Amino acid sequence: EDVVNKIAAGEIIVAPVHALKELIENAVDAGSTSLEILVKDGGLKLLQITDNGCGINTDDMAILCERFTTSKLKAFEDLTSIGTYGFRGEALASISHIAHLTVTTKTADSSCAWKAQYAGGKLAPAKPGQSADPKACAGRQGTQITVEDLFYNVPTRRRAFRSASEEYAKIADQVGRAIANELIEFELSNAQYGFKTEGLVSNANYSGKRTALLLFINHRSVESSTIKRAVEHTYSTFLPKGGKPFVYLSLEIDPARVDVNVHPTKREVNFLNEEEIIELICGDIRTRLGKVDT
Ligand code: ADP
Ligand code: MG
Repeated sequence: EDVVNKIAAGEIIVAPVHALKELIENAVDAGSTSLEILVKDGGLKLLQITDNGCGINTDDMAILCERFTTSKLKAFEDLTSIGTYGFRGEALASISHIAHLTVTTKTADSSCAWKAQYAGGKLAPAKPGQSADPKACAGRQGTQITVEDLFYNVPTRRRAFRSASEEYAKIADQVGRAIANELIEFELSNAQYGFKTEGLVSNANYSGKRTALLLFINHRSVESSTIKRAVEHTYSTFLPKGGKPFVYLSLEIDPARVDVNVHPTKREVNFLNEEEIIELICGDIRTRLGKVDT
């Protein structure tokens, strides 16, 4: 049975990059807005990903690495409206069969973090003779997953890796894709109101904790509460559970149309036809959000 599990795991996780892809998806599903990734020897020695997501309930830690343990499929109907990446509940189980896995996690309502080791789908003691139960420890909200010595017990697979740098290149590529997948390139010009804008806006998969609006007008970093409100309103119908967008916009407007009477230290700006321009930009964002697969 252990051999069967190892073979099954090896089919899901063929290289370190596959483990990382699953872990990034889990972090995104958990509502994380920030990820830290640490890699040693192309991920074969160490893969560590730290997120600031919702964390895992202490009660769920014991069964976390059992196959088909998933918090993401509540009813069959969910299959038709899957908004999260994972619904198989196999990634962590698989990893625990072919690597040393440590999970440290804290939810918002827990007063401390909890740490546990896993082997072969079950909680395992950190050192022989110790208890396998999760231990209380210090930590911030979110989850840290540490995967060490991947394929340590599958020597044929372990030997198949020729170079760490090759595996690292795959990982770097995957991390780039994970970020790009959440953003849509944005470009809009309009002759009537004399403006041009380009930037990156988050898609409906992205759900931040607060609105991130990075706004530049004629290459100067500015603020506009009117644009911020309009952007939040635009996203509100697309983001479930009150998630917030990430929007980076660089606007070029004929300087004659931008209010130059604002105090030099004041970053809030006004420009001519503000309402019309904002409506055009938000209308375009709305169209793009509606078109992109989520
Ligand atoms: P799946 O993602 O298909 O549900 P996984 O094996 O990848 O299965 O994860 C099992 C479960 O562990 C998830 O459903 C989720 O509840 C929990 N989990 C895993 N990673 C995280 C994380 N980074 N933050 C919060 N919960 C997590
Ligand atoms: Mg998953």
